[in-house]
Amino acid sequence: MKKERPLILISNDDGIEAPGILSLVAAMDGLGDIVVAAPLHEQSAVGHAITMRDPVRARPWPFRGPSGHVTAYAVSGTPADCVKLAMDKLVPRQPDLVVSGINHGPNTAVNVIYSGTVSAATEAAILGIPAIAFSYCKWGSGGDFEASGRMARSVAKRVLEGGLQPGILLNVNIPDLPLADIKGCMITRQARSKWEESFAERMDPFDRPYYWLSGKFVNLDSGENTDLWAVDNGWVSITPIQHDLTAYSALEGLENWRWGDPAGENNT
Ligand code: MN
Repeated sequence: MKKERPLILISNDDGIEAPGILSLVAAMDGLGDIVVAAPLHEQSAVGHAITMRDPVRARPWPFRGPSGHVTAYAVSGTPADCVKLAMDKLVPRQPDLVVSGINHGPNTAVNVIYSGTVSAATEAAILGIPAIAFSYCKWGSGGDFEASGRMARSVAKRVLEGGLQPGILLNVNIPDLPLADIKGCMITRQARSKWEESFAERMDPFDRPYYWLSGKFVNLDSGENTDLWAVDNGWVSITPIQHDLTAYSALEGLENWRWGDPAGENNT
């Protein structure tokens, strides 16, 4: 029996018109049938938000890849909405792979938690589909997705061939370098980091203050196996991540936290 071609669902958080999703479609060209379901408007930093109090609409979108027409939908929701809706209503069969991106800007370290790009892939992992989030580590505007696309293709091929553990997705960050200067791919862990937030305060025309988030990214981790280290040193960072947020290392030591009376007063 002839094996069906793989089906690859593609989403992002920069929106269906972003150059990064065009690069990702080009990168997946020939690896399988492609369906795009991406937000109509940019949804960066929405995290894993979903739309519950409004309808979600999916508009067929004229999308051209390197091999011609690609089935595509612009969705009036978040990246997680896109994958949920696509899986239920838009794809002709269960996808073999869901890829998200290529995000313009890094999703390393703590940024994973805010990322809509990662959340599209996370939603796929929740639904039991192998998934990869791709980010091009370029701050500011502009740049060239060529090398990112090439690296994305090689990671996707590997996952299509070998699969992933259930519930695990890959968060891939690609340095802003020409292909010839990229050393290769390495498995990493998420670096410890934080944002030192500062809200700029300004006045609106009615003399009321308003605030605009800005901040400084701080790396708290000197490890040489982190996502930040890899990207800073010319490697493509591949971090396996999961939506099970249980802190397994904290379970031990809390095992006595089980009591029957609501106030906990008779706990011994
Ligand atoms: Mn984005």
